[in-house]
Amino acid sequence: MPDFVKRDVDLAKRTTLALPGRAAFYAEITAAGQLARLTGSSVPRRFVLGAGSNLVLSGDFDGLLLHMAIGGRQLLAEDDDAWYVRAGAGENWHQLVRWTLEQGWPGLENLALIPGTVGAAPIQNIGAYGLEIADRFLSLEACDMQSGKTLHIDRAACRFAYRDSVFKQQGWHLDAGRVVTHVTLRLPKAWQPLTGYADLAAELDQQQIANPNARQIAAAVTHVRRRKLPDPAVLPNAGSFFHNPLVDAAAGERLANRFPGLPRYPQVDGRVKLAAGWLIEQSGWKGRNLGPVGMYEKQALVLVNRGGASGAEVIALAKAVQAAVRERFGVELTPEPVFL
Ligand code: NAP
Repeated sequence: MPDFVKRDVDLAKRTTLALPGRAAFYAEITAAGQLARLTGSSVPRRFVLGAGSNLVLSGDFDGLLLHMAIGGRQLLAEDDDAWYVRAGAGENWHQLVRWTLEQGWPGLENLALIPGTVGAAPIQNIGAYGLEIADRFLSLEACDMQSGKTLHIDRAACRFAYRDSVFKQQGWHLDAGRVVTHVTLRLPKAWQPLTGYADLAAELDQQQIANPNARQIAAAVTHVRRRKLPDPAVLPNAGSFFHNPLVDAAAGERLANRFPGLPRYPQVDGRVKLAAGWLIEQSGWKGRNLGPVGMYEKQALVLVNRGGASGAEVIALAKAVQAAVRERFGVELTPEPVFL
């Protein structure tokens, strides 16, 4: 193994849920060229770690953890229609959003303060307040961990869907078959504010901003998120713990008849999106604990570690919440974080 690979590294401080665990092998990747030295089948099982903000450690990892730390951000090109921004996969997502806004390039403001790295953003097609990265994505570069070659992946090949992409399939992120090293975004010059979501609209209203610019929207989004979501440095968590479920139209109708307050959001494909946080709250789990873990009192969708929790305790709570929602609504909740 190359000399930049360390052995037996403690991971507790490298994930935002602060669960205990160690990696048998650990490499900090600051340049794409390092990955080419870790290719081939003689290398133990690999896993890519970004900011650790969407990860549940269920114990020790006996493979090679690739800590993605490739930095750098630049304006690649500009034409009449758009700015094209390229960033290293290890850059902090929110810092990238802030930097583009400071440069006067709007377009990412609704995605302010989403935790995690730039490289992780396309994996689950991060989205918030009516915008997702797919809307601003041009292409990415990845290292093929068999051949060591650089792959160029365009938007169509990513097969983006709601919090989903081709990168969640086998051969990509989970088994580190190909590792994202750089992402290029396209920020259109024809800018339109997206302020339709109730929380965001209410925040702008309260601040008496009628025609917000992109920086004001980012500030409002940041404010709303800070109010609703716990800071992992104070109360360890991994953000939203379950996906917002999609059900078919008939099931949505049946549920709405039984539960009149049920929030429902029709999708273009005919399905209906439900708010997982609402389902959890109505099932009695908002602010409730099971051992040292619980569902956050200000946002029931966030699972928090109140101190000293293990991966097994997180999984036990997740199962209890899933069972409660299943029993009351007949809806299956799927965890959003990756389990290692
Ligand atoms: P929220 O705004 O209370 O919304 C709860 C649910 O209702 C979400 O499924 C949201 O859809 C949907 N919704 C609300 N208003 C809507 C509208 N006007 N049109 C269509 N759908 C609407 O959610 P929150 O938990 O406080 O989170 C705020 C935002 O951050 C949400 O957009 C959420 O998805 C996003 N978020 C994203 C991630 C991630 O990318 N992994 C993690 C945490 C939160 P959408 O999910 O489609 O927005």
